Amino acid sequence: ARIALLPSGGAFGTEPLALVQINDRTEARRTEQMRSDFIANASHELRTPLASVIGYIETLQNHARDDPEARERFLGIMAREAGRMQRLVDDLMSLGRIEMTEHLRPSEVRSLEDIAAETAAALMPMAVRGQIDLQVALEAGGSPVICDPDQLTQVFTNLIDNAMKYGGAGGTVRVERARPGKANPGRFGIAITDSGPGIEREHIPRLTERFYRVSVTSSRNKGGTGLGLAIVKHILNRHEGRLEITSSQGKGSTFTVWLPSAEGKKLRRAAAAHAM
Ligand code: ADP
Repeated sequence: ARIALLPSGGAFGTEPLALVQINDRTEARRTEQMRSDFIANASHELRTPLASVIGYIETLQNHARDDPEARERFLGIMAREAGRMQRLVDDLMSLGRIEMTEHLRPSEVRSLEDIAAETAAALMPMAVRGQIDLQVALEAGGSPVICDPDQLTQVFTNLIDNAMKYGGAGGTVRVERARPGKANPGRFGIAITDSGPGIEREHIPRLTERFYRVSVTSSRNKGGTGLGLAIVKHILNRHEGRLEITSSQGKGSTFTVWLPSAEGKKLRRAAAAHAM
């Protein structure tokens, strides 16, 4: 509700009160709508692979039992669909857990560059399998931030995984330190750049919405759940950080994670405590 914006009584008589009520209701209705959209989307996303698995079980029971070739093929599809359901449930659980901790302040001081480098190292075997040149240019111990290291590992996992997934075989993914410039004073940044197809401008502001995808088919074929960037956004919110997305059609995209420096944050917290 935008209560603070209302004039305090006077010439407006009872109008402001009515306005407060309308705004409250609009806000409540919007939250309620978002919640029911989310449940409808999640159910739909789960129902599709589930229906496929049930369909193939029935086919196996009725016709394909004695056809070894069909049996192998159907089992392969069922395994793929079950994997999709598993990833979706894992991502939904992650999102729920992150939302529950969103009001808690992270407390560990760690190097943002170390966390990004460790995550990239863990994903190296996947890059090799996918014929992707994963390049890491980071300084050990650089960019200290106050954080929840497990959550930041998840941020970099999701972003590097996307860069490899959408960049495709034969592509390059670079993980490097970003220069803060004027837009991000007192922040540290890590940029993940791919050499993929890029993203059309109109999609960029919506990419962190739950279940938003540029192409549902492409995301599904690559094993996506549509929740990866929503998870990134929630984790960065908790860290008072932000995600910057830039893209150039046909050339690739850069996803940059910006976090306040530990030093700056400590000073701000101390100043706030002193003022109280
Ligand atoms: P998904 O599981 O579908 O990958 P995400 O939330 O991680 O879900 O990403 C949302 C959408 O953003 C993707 O479906 C894809 O369309 C787009 N996207 C994300 N990363 C990239 C990238 N590096 N290059 C091109 N498109 C991307």
